[in-house]
Amino acid sequence: MKEKKGVRLEHISKIYKDPKTGKDFYAVQDTTLDIEAGTFVTLLGPSGCGKTTTLRMIAGFESPDEGEIYLGGEAINHLTPNKRDTAMVFQSYALLPHYNVFDNVAYGLKIRKISKEEIRERVMNILKLVEMDGMESRMTNQLSGGQQQRVALARALVLEPGVLLFDEPLSNLDAKLRVSMRTEIRKIQQKVGITAIYVTHDQSEAMSISDKIIIMSKGKVEQIGTPREIYYHPNSRFVADFIGEANFLDARVLSVDGDKARIQVAGKDLQVNNFGGARAGDTAALVIRPEAAVLADKGHLEATVMLSTFMGAYQYYQVQVDGMEIQITDYNPVNRRIYEVGEKAFLDFDSRGVYIL
Ligand code: ATP
Repeated sequence: MKEKKGVRLEHISKIYKDPKTGKDFYAVQDTTLDIEAGTFVTLLGPSGCGKTTTLRMIAGFESPDEGEIYLGGEAINHLTPNKRDTAMVFQSYALLPHYNVFDNVAYGLKIRKISKEEIRERVMNILKLVEMDGMESRMTNQLSGGQQQRVALARALVLEPGVLLFDEPLSNLDAKLRVSMRTEIRKIQQKVGITAIYVTHDQSEAMSISDKIIIMSKGKVEQIGTPREIYYHPNSRFVADFIGEANFLDARVLSVDGDKARIQVAGKDLQVNNFGGARAGDTAALVIRPEAAVLADKGHLEATVMLSTFMGAYQYYQVQVDGMEIQITDYNPVNRRIYEVGEKAFLDFDSRGVYIL
């Protein structure tokens, strides 16, 4: 493989016309970000947040209205897609229907005027990598969805691009195959050491596959971080809510000491983590992941059980704390007492596992 390349977006914007209102709007607005060479980075966010537009601008299928894109340090806005050192794997596979597997993978090399011998060697190597060797002469309509996606991946990889782009590549596969394919894509990316930028709206896909996740909302980057950083240190309510489940309790910030804060919730004083930069006097939200809390006979905050359901792996509770609803997933509850609807209990949590925003 050739040199792997990093990508930089500098103040990138894309303006579209809303077909309904006829008004211009920012599909992507003033986005600046760096993607390190050799890393697997996912663009994640709700439908319409600008993920695909961002990816397509990197590929050259769309051009930014503002800003500059760099690939391996080189400004590439003026380059057409085929002149960019990128290759894209599409959701729809986009395979050539009247070609067999070999010819589909070889196609991009043929138009680059590479010798027959080299084409054969490179195609066979890549088909082996994606575990499709032995299937060279199959027509693409004789392949399963997963196999078609492997061919699509091989076709991109065989070009040895500096950056590999994925546009929701697994969304046409059934749930089980999606899980196994994502593990394979990650393995292949690590083996080849290529830079990968991957668009998805599936958070578990993003969590499991990425070195870093870029969370987008309404055309802007909300947060960039490793899956752990995004989950444990979300910097906004949007991110906390979008990744995993989160409960929010109204809190008042009493005092702040570095990344710790004393807060008041439901008339109780608590010390918690402060990642969001809250200041004394602020109204904030105490964020509690459902798995970070349990019900107990003693604890931080009084709670009334509204719902108590056995789910096998966990006991699911909905409780009320000072008029606010909290969800709890009590994993492996065999060693704890089960609380029934109507009972009074306490919400117990490790203060290090909760934080304010
Ligand atoms: P999804 O997960 O649904 O694919 P996304 O985050 O990839 O969403 P984009 O496809 O980047 O979102 O679209 C961002 C916004 O731009 C959306 O509001 C979309 O409707 C709009 N949009 C995309 N392409 C065009 C276009 N060619 N003309 C006008 N508006 C567009």
